[in-house]
Amino acid sequence: MKICLERHWHHLSTEEVSILLETSEALGLDTSEVHRRLELFGDNRLVRKKGKSPQVLFLLQFHQPLVYILLAATVVTSLLREWVDAGVIFGVVLVNAIIGFVQEAKAVKAIEALTQSLISTATVFRGNERKQISATELVPGDIVLLQSGDKVPADLRLLSTRELQVDESALTGESVPVRKQSDLLAADTLLADRTNMAYSSSLVTYGIATGVVVATGKSTEIGRINELIASADILATPLTKKITRFSELLLYVILGLAAITFLVGVLRRGEAWIDMFMAVVALAVGAIPEGLPAAVTITLAIGVNKMARRHAIIRKLPAVETLGSATVICSDKTGTLTQNQMTVQEMYAGGALYLVSGVGYAAEGHFTREGASVSVDEEPALRECLVCGLLCNDSALIKGDEGEWRVEGDPTEAALVVAARKAGLEQEALALTHPRIDVIPFESQYQYMATLHECGKGKVLYLKGSVESVLSRCHRALSRSGETMPLSSVDCHRTVAEIAEKGLRVLAFARMEWDRTSRVLGHHDLRQGLTFIGLQGMIDPPRPEAVAAVQICRRAGIRVKMITGDHAITAAAIARQIGLVEASGTVPGYTSVLNGRALAELTEAALVEAAERTAVFARVAPEQKLRLVEALQAGGHVVAMTGDGVNDAPALRQANIGIAMGVTGTEVAKEAADMLLADDNFSSIAAAVEEGRGVYDNLVKFITWTLPTNLGEGLVILAAVFTGAQLPILPVQILWINMTTAVLLGLMLAFEPKESGLMDRPPLDPAKPLLTMELITRICLVGFLLLAGAFGLFKWALQEGYSLSAARTCAVNVFVFGEMFYLFNCRSLRHSSLYIGLFGNRLLLVGVALMIGLQLLFTYLPAMHIAFGSQEIGLRAWSLILVGALLLSLVVEGEKAIRRWRSTATS
Ligand code: ADP
Ligand code: MG
Repeated sequence: MKICLERHWHHLSTEEVSILLETSEALGLDTSEVHRRLELFGDNRLVRKKGKSPQVLFLLQFHQPLVYILLAATVVTSLLREWVDAGVIFGVVLVNAIIGFVQEAKAVKAIEALTQSLISTATVFRGNERKQISATELVPGDIVLLQSGDKVPADLRLLSTRELQVDESALTGESVPVRKQSDLLAADTLLADRTNMAYSSSLVTYGIATGVVVATGKSTEIGRINELIASADILATPLTKKITRFSELLLYVILGLAAITFLVGVLRRGEAWIDMFMAVVALAVGAIPEGLPAAVTITLAIGVNKMARRHAIIRKLPAVETLGSATVICSDKTGTLTQNQMTVQEMYAGGALYLVSGVGYAAEGHFTREGASVSVDEEPALRECLVCGLLCNDSALIKGDEGEWRVEGDPTEAALVVAARKAGLEQEALALTHPRIDVIPFESQYQYMATLHECGKGKVLYLKGSVESVLSRCHRALSRSGETMPLSSVDCHRTVAEIAEKGLRVLAFARMEWDRTSRVLGHHDLRQGLTFIGLQGMIDPPRPEAVAAVQICRRAGIRVKMITGDHAITAAAIARQIGLVEASGTVPGYTSVLNGRALAELTEAALVEAAERTAVFARVAPEQKLRLVEALQAGGHVVAMTGDGVNDAPALRQANIGIAMGVTGTEVAKEAADMLLADDNFSSIAAAVEEGRGVYDNLVKFITWTLPTNLGEGLVILAAVFTGAQLPILPVQILWINMTTAVLLGLMLAFEPKESGLMDRPPLDPAKPLLTMELITRICLVGFLLLAGAFGLFKWALQEGYSLSAARTCAVNVFVFGEMFYLFNCRSLRHSSLYIGLFGNRLLLVGVALMIGLQLLFTYLPAMHIAFGSQEIGLRAWSLILVGALLLSLVVEGEKAIRRWRSTATS
């Protein structure tokens, strides 16, 4: 095959294109041909443009104010010929950069892998069959079917279109959707004007189309531009930005303090300026929390992984934080709160009500009327209702390897297929006698689907959809015997209410003889003149885990609201079964259900009020979701909103956390979302919220743990300079403390399991600062205790006749062991350490063991003595160090206990 891929495809007729690509619209490629072409052209995959090279990423690790100080310190100590100090300081800078680089690369990889783990699919026509395949398997010549919500999987020359509109912003930056068609265009048409082409990565916002693949992978236009998002700011979140700002502020404070210290030391106390310089370096390196940025990144990355394990896939990192603050979750009903395993249980046709037995997708069950079995063949209206459901249908049941039935397509439609099979009606047979001519696929905003079929010599149109949308188009009804009768002779609305009351989803069916010559269906063709056939009511049981999750959310102070396109009565019934309505019904003046129509008439102010008070929104058009999100936000809420369709995208973008369905969601919704639900399950949202709170908790724990050390170290140096004492800790020793404890102790807090009762607290207030007054007090308390311990022991050691090096080693050990004991305090910010248990975090224990080992090396290894100026110390010193550390820990526990006691006393 000699396919030339550098053609002006838009300037060729559809026939020419098919000939050149050796394919046919009617049959598609066959399997062996697909294999051959896959060999030839490779996978349909975009090669990601390399982001920053690893070298650059590594160098960027040095691009931090703190590191500048350390580098400056290296230079100056070298000039002073303090080679060991210079070496150690530079060594620390290097180690810091390596750790930062490795961790960051790992985090970026993990997050990228997750966001890409959802491969998009494509619907193709191959070997005369319609198939769902992974978009990576597409080859030139493949016939692709597009419908609204799809992402165009490769470059296509369009063969036929129906009101197709495509958002090409990924390619052109222009976000207004472009109308497409299939006619030939002039050769010199510019890319943006080639309306008979659909380019890879653009999104179908409306309509349907068929196209032939002309280019895949890196030969596509987008592949050529190759301007895919490099992962530049993937790790930036509001919190990381806040922390960066905090570090910068801290830097200025420290520089100021350093300058004052230097001047006081040299001018007032007449110290040697070299000594003062070393003191200032110590102050600077000590007071800056170097581990902080890495710890935040790692904690967030761990959170992302934990969420993924619970089926919530984070697409945009800030969502991890926002989740913990969510105050309202707006959830779809079908599939999210319910199982989306529909079974038709009741039917209404020709004025008679029928029950259908059987569960699941097996075609076992029969029809009864008023308790007596009926034969469907003797009930023409009933039969027609089933036929309509079968023909006006795009899903199929496929028998799996183990004989189990699997749905391909919409479960609502699959239920209709099953019901018809119970009456012996089969899709294949009907498709032969009633070949389909055209279709208007289901879209939430219209609430119906229509198909046009050949039927003997004539044509017939079938319509199915929501009761409102179907009935308003009918003026007659089918009688039980199959004649027509006035619509008024069926009591449709009462029947619908009765069926919906039980939580069944109701679909209405209608038909019309098609006497026009046109073979194309448009929405305007079915405005009126249809004959009502009947109703089918299907059960969709609530997900048991959703019931539990709703309870959890309620305790966690999160309102759950159901937003559905379904009927108000059905929605309300399901809401009751799930426990949504009672929950909110206890609030005085709480309305349980609001209809989309009523919602449309509310003013903005009234909507804010109604959005707050209503638990169930029924017959909501996707556009109204946006209004709802805005109204809730205006009421001060942090809103999580689910969605799956094209029209949900604006609401998903507007919501604080946009959540798309991973299974049933369209590509458009997924692109717009912050998070995907791998299992479409409501309980996964609740799980993600819990993890989000856990992540936040662990971050605060880390910060509460790390800051006292910096404070203490800074204070020790200041105290030494102002009292004219020798420095109790040298700069290199401070670096040693900060580096080793951050990695071996502090980071382990990121692996801290969630505290129980996390979901019994109210949502995090995003306006509240990271550190409360309570925690700031604790940080200061511990900082001063460390100061007292280190300074005290230093003085004691000198008095005992220890060498200066040995006395400093004592001070260093006070810091390290003080932090180690304090680490156990920080495992819970409010509960006592004994209450949460000492051994809940294995990694933390490993870290503690390693830290003890390192500290012994620091104290006893001769090489360490040379590098860090440490010295052996005796048993008495050790016992004082350990007692001091234990005391510190006890004081913090005491402080926690007082706070607990006070908070129970006041509440
Ligand atoms: P939701 O997903 O919130 O339950 P939808 O927007 O999917 O709501 O459906 C709204 C209404 O449209 C349903 O109550 C039903 O009457 C009708 N409907 C749903 N699916 C189909 C379909 N495949 N074909 C025709 N009508 C449908
Ligand atoms: Mg739906």
